[in-house]
Amino acid sequence: MTKVHNFSAGPCILAPQVIKKASEAVINFNNLNLSLLEISHRSDDFVEVMDKARNLVKKVLNVPEGYEVIYLGGGASLGFTIAALNFLKVGGKAAYINTGTWASGAIKEAKKIGAVEVIASSEDKNFSYIPKGYTIPKDIDYLHYTSNNTIFGTQFKSIPKTDSLLICDMSSDIFSKPIDVSKFDLIYAGAQKNLGPAGSTLYIVKKELLGKTGNSIPSMLDLSNHIAKDSMYNTPPVFPVYVNMLTLEWLVELGGVKEMGRINAEKASTLYNEIDRNPLFKGVVEKEDRSEMNVTFVLNNEAHKDRFDQLWKKANINGIEGHRSVGGYRASIYNALPLESVKVLVEAMKELEKTA
Ligand SMILES: *Cc1c(COP(=O)(O)O)cnc(C)c1O
Repeated sequence: MTKVHNFSAGPCILAPQVIKKASEAVINFNNLNLSLLEISHRSDDFVEVMDKARNLVKKVLNVPEGYEVIYLGGGASLGFTIAALNFLKVGGKAAYINTGTWASGAIKEAKKIGAVEVIASSEDKNFSYIPKGYTIPKDIDYLHYTSNNTIFGTQFKSIPKTDSLLICDMSSDIFSKPIDVSKFDLIYAGAQKNLGPAGSTLYIVKKELLGKTGNSIPSMLDLSNHIAKDSMYNTPPVFPVYVNMLTLEWLVELGGVKEMGRINAEKASTLYNEIDRNPLFKGVVEKEDRSEMNVTFVLNNEAHKDRFDQLWKKANINGIEGHRSVGGYRASIYNALPLESVKVLVEAMKELEKTA
């Protein structure tokens, strides 16, 4: 098989050994002569997978006592609703920071549930920066933000300081570097960026805070129900959870999130250095807010587009077309993408400079 350098934004690249083990489990899981896809989620073999996947999250992120880890379906987009339903009180108010498409989605859904104040936004400049210097109101139930903006290529470099509860959509940078979970009250993340295939969403929640909204929450959207049943309230997404487990095992083997953070920083600087050095390209967002996961850039002269597209396609690069709302290019350099692939992209950029 020809090696493809997969810069896809999501679903995206997974570690090769994870794909291999996952494919084996589809044929014959745990030597049961049955597929992982055809055994009961209540079987010992699968319960072990679920326990392991949940415990690995705790281990890898150093999750403190009092927090629960569960896997649900519905994607991060359902997380927008679940966050608000479980934390926005009757007659209360939530504060949101609007840093792009996904943050806007979270705001839209929360508004259907209660009062929402957008306290900061970078919409005025097509979400090309992370807002700073805003005031966080005191009378809020929680502050919500999106740590990495997958489409626009910006990332928060520090956690917003607030005395209220803090909720974060970490879909596209969870497990990319160490985080202090104790600063958060709810973290949620769709798996298909850094963790596994589409179909499961990770929730890390401070348990004692649940059940305090004064609202009756539909059973499937009530985090307490899922916690009480050890993430098996209904049939969980068994295959995605298994692949999440494999990815976390791979991450532990590699040295955990600290080592991952080091590798990701090197990948990001390799690519941004070329964007800044090469006179044919420029970055899209404020330098200080650049994402280490999604690198957005454009050609200074559109006349070079056909030639550049030819070059990267010839180098077996996949998935660097920019999102329609930004244009240009977006190279997603998630955990499983090796530095070697970034170097191949940098070579294609240098080749364009030489031959344009
Ligand atoms: C991809 C993404 C989402 C949407 O995830 P779904 O699982 O498709 O609902 C939400 N937030 C962020 C930050 C994302 O990157």
